[in-house]
Amino acid sequence: MSAKIYLVIPCYNEEEVLPETNRRLTKKLDSLIACGRACTDSRILYVDDGSKDRTWEIICRLHSENPMVLGLKLAHNRGHQNALLAGLLTAKDEADCVVSMDADLQDDIDALDQFIEKFDEGCDVVYGVRNKRDTDTFFKRASALAFYRLMQGLGVDVVYNHADYRLMSRRALDALSEYHEVNLFLRGLVPLIGYRCDYVYYDRHERFAGESKYPLKKMISFALDGITSFSVKPLKIISTLGILVSCLSVLGLLYALISWASGNVVAGWTATVASIWFLGGLQMLCLGVVGGYIGKIYSEVKARPRFRIEQYLRAEKTEDSSACTCCGKSDQHTQNTDPISHSTPSTR
Ligand code: UDP
Ligand code: MG
Repeated sequence: MSAKIYLVIPCYNEEEVLPETNRRLTKKLDSLIACGRACTDSRILYVDDGSKDRTWEIICRLHSENPMVLGLKLAHNRGHQNALLAGLLTAKDEADCVVSMDADLQDDIDALDQFIEKFDEGCDVVYGVRNKRDTDTFFKRASALAFYRLMQGLGVDVVYNHADYRLMSRRALDALSEYHEVNLFLRGLVPLIGYRCDYVYYDRHERFAGESKYPLKKMISFALDGITSFSVKPLKIISTLGILVSCLSVLGLLYALISWASGNVVAGWTATVASIWFLGGLQMLCLGVVGGYIGKIYSEVKARPRFRIEQYLRAEKTEDSSACTCCGKSDQHTQNTDPISHSTPSTR
């Protein structure tokens, strides 16, 4: 039997690209349904992450024109990872499997066939992995490589060159919903689930239109989030560094004593200043790392909802896919304006 597939697309200020994305995705899903690889209840779920442009208006229009399109509006901008999670957790109870991808058409839509093939073979998670990074700038390529190396060095299990283009079965999503952390880094969380997984390799394209929503500052904070959410090694490195510096200080003291004993007691201004600056810098760095972890504990302890859903343009419950849940009409879809609270439960 063909699977009920949901495509989850987080969107933040994507008015320029959304109509084309939807045209291509509906065409792809239609072809998957036509060849029996996806069932007729399969859907495309756009998550509007508090966009300031016409993104939500476009989603509403697309929903009214095509029952295959669903929309989820978050109350405010919570960032890519939270928007994605909101979509995944919403789709989890309706679909057999969910594929997440970006709205900008960088991910190769045709790779979906292989995703579904792997799912049919029994995989719970299928990771989309980039073949190469030709479309990236030199800086992005180099920083991404350094990031993956660092993550691996710190003992974090991340899939090399995999972003958030992935398929997850309902079982895997159920497992994901048990992780309640506020500092989200899905690329690190999903491998922790541990069910059977496989990889699909694809070529990543250029963004179809609009600008990247990940400027350098966001990218760095995302990378730091990934490291500090999954590894306590930086704290261990600090301790090792502390021990090393202490040993060096003892050697320095010995040297000073020997110099004093041999009568060579000229005050070494450079050495004094250099060591003050060095140790001061090192202490600040260490404090910063410890502070970073404390900051995370702070936000985790508060356990605030990770997102709040303002509106959900949902799918119909009946087998007849031409009827809309909100109005029950087949030709004209109005919005379901009931806000639903779908924030993550604070179980702790
Ligand atoms: N995105 C989002 N919320 C944000 C930032 C981005 O939902 O606060 C979405 C964005 O619309 C896109 C995806 O996350 O679908 C990836 O963003 P983008 O393509 O700008 O990142 P890049 O590919 O440049 O790393
Ligand atoms: Mg992109």
